[in-house]
Amino acid sequence: MRKWGRNSLHVYNQLDPRLQGVVDRVLLEVADVSLLTGHRPEDEQNAQFDAGTSALRWPDSRHNSMPAKAVDLQPYPRPASKEKLWASLAYIAGHAIRIAASDGVILRWGGDWNRNGDLTDQTFDDLFHLEIVDTHGSYYRADCVHSGGSN
Ligand SMILES: [Zn+2]
Repeated sequence: MRKWGRNSLHVYNQLDPRLQGVVDRVLLEVADVSLLTGHRPEDEQNAQFDAGTSALRWPDSRHNSMPAKAVDLQPYPRPASKEKLWASLAYIAGHAIRIAASDGVILRWGGDWNRNGDLTDQTFDDLFHLEIVDTHGSYYRADCVHSGGSN
């Protein structure tokens, strides 16, 4: 049975319980994954904004709440080719969205910020990123960018 590694567990413990439920089911039912980012503190958020790798300043990212309402994850092991990485991320995200929906949770994926199923109508992709959409908020935004990372 798959289980969380040490680094993933550290991220896991920062997540909103609804996200914990989703990623647990992804791990058991879909694929082995590593959790990369949960909560992102103020200094890191603003450093990413200043570097141009996030469109949002503290505290506007859903990574900034505690517990975090966003998670970044990737398949484990991480595919070496971009094509397989992107395919894996889309595969995992699609399953995660359906799993969340079955638990009554709306998830937004960074590959489809406006959740219309059309991946060609956005210019800012963050395929590692999943976040909870609370019922009062359904706005478009680009959250963060990941150039790499190893768990
Ligand atoms: Zn993210």
